Amino acid sequence: MSQHHGADGDDEYGLFVDGAFRSGTSGDRIDVTFPYDGSVWATVPRGTAADVDQAVAAARDAFEGEWGTFGGSERRRVLDQIADVIEAHTDELAELETRQNGKLIREMRGQMESLGEWYRYYGGLAEDLGGRSIPVENKAETGGMTVHTREEPLGVVGAITPWNSPLMLTTWKLAPALAAGNTFVHKPSEETPVSALRFAELVAERTDLPDGVYNVVPGYGPEAGEALVDHDDVDKLAFTGSSTVGREIAKVAGEQLIPVTLELGGKSPNIVFESANLENAVNGVIKGIFAATGQTCVAGSRVFVHETIHDEFVDAFTDRASEISLGNPLDPDTQMGPIAFPEQWETVASYVDRGAEEGATVAFGGDRPNDLPGECFIEPTILVDVDNDMTVAQEEIFGPVASVIPFADEAEVIDLANDTDYGLAAGVWTEDMRQANRLVERIEAGMVWVNEYRAVSHKVPFGGYKDSGLGRENGREALEEYLQTKSVWYDQSGEVSDPFSLG
Ligand code: NAD
Repeated sequence: MSQHHGADGDDEYGLFVDGAFRSGTSGDRIDVTFPYDGSVWATVPRGTAADVDQAVAAARDAFEGEWGTFGGSERRRVLDQIADVIEAHTDELAELETRQNGKLIREMRGQMESLGEWYRYYGGLAEDLGGRSIPVENKAETGGMTVHTREEPLGVVGAITPWNSPLMLTTWKLAPALAAGNTFVHKPSEETPVSALRFAELVAERTDLPDGVYNVVPGYGPEAGEALVDHDDVDKLAFTGSSTVGREIAKVAGEQLIPVTLELGGKSPNIVFESANLENAVNGVIKGIFAATGQTCVAGSRVFVHETIHDEFVDAFTDRASEISLGNPLDPDTQMGPIAFPEQWETVASYVDRGAEEGATVAFGGDRPNDLPGECFIEPTILVDVDNDMTVAQEEIFGPVASVIPFADEAEVIDLANDTDYGLAAGVWTEDMRQANRLVERIEAGMVWVNEYRAVSHKVPFGGYKDSGLGRENGREALEEYLQTKSVWYDQSGEVSDPFSLG
């Protein structure tokens, strides 16, 4: 099945296997809705285990076929072509992202504008892949033994992504996986499958990536997702999503003895000290929790504020929150869009209620604004009188809900910040750099931003401590996640060896 633009504006997509769209084996389809108003604007096949089987077979064939013959420089050339494709289709891809998940067009455009950098960066690393030469003692006198390592791909990568930044989180896996020489089967979120399908089509049409290297099977987690995780011809799993599902995937990877990279949830502390530039800190806290309507894994959802500036901070924070303009995410002036789908809205709202039941006070927001369409809008919400033990301070909400918690001194806030199962990110707002350094050393998190929040780069490792994940995406570290090392020993001495001595 090829992409079909119907007269009513609906788009019907196939699944993308072996370089072309095809129909799903089930015949069932999944609706894709625009969260702003709940309208259905596309459908995709509901992928099954049989579809996953076909995609994995195509990926295996591609791995053993033409793609396996591509050297690092040839892979670099293809990765550069992929970057060119994204850069030529920034607006189209950004709009698809916004129409699937309701995130702001201005943020999605920004993401699409930077995405090519990942392919260019990993393309450069592909060209530089080689291994190393290791001097060994054996037969040193005759100089007959040489050892080197080879950095080799793992094979077929199974990747599963969430709905909040679909193409960016796909790219964090796909770019290093391709650079290393692997092939890829991708199960995007059932909420946001369209951008991956269109991207795969563009890549097939406009680059020299061989058919079968990048395959996309949309579908539900417990169906297509589980089939991919359980598949015995997949050599590596890469997952971004909740810690609950991540833990299950890690169990299967353990059974199959295959490597897994997990990027999971967070409950990140954003810590404001008394010396902080208050205006900057308020803006940073807003960015941490209300950008993307709080639907980011690094959301700074626990806002620790020194007790001497607590009230002043809360006043400035609520003032600033009250100025945020909610609306259509396709309008470039909108500052906060809807939640991605109604069930997630219910989850967020139920956490606000739970917070109130446990003794928190809603200082701002908490309701559905009545002047906006659809079922997915919620006001930016600030909870005060929060204790770090409350449910709202311990569980990931994945919505625009900030819990403000006062602290008395540095030692206390370090303990509170680390008193969570998660360890993804942290923010520290202070003008005292010695204090910042002490925090940087003691905070248990994969990323710490000082007087900044939510910055990412293709060059900088991204990932979590504790229940927030395993392994790293981005940077040179991510490439290692898609490689395995082969050590090669050459005896060139010509000597006849003694079978009973080692070496
Ligand atoms: P989710 O775990 O419910 O789903 C993620 C993906 O897993 C989806 O594609 C889903 O279909 C699939 N899935 C669900 N059950 C599955 C199963 N049994 N087997 C295989 N696949 C299955 O998460 P979500 O609600 O889509 O996304 C939000 C979560 O993702 C949050 O916890 C958030 O913190 C996390 N996240 C983490 C990062 C990061 O980089 N650390 C980035 C973005 C989002």
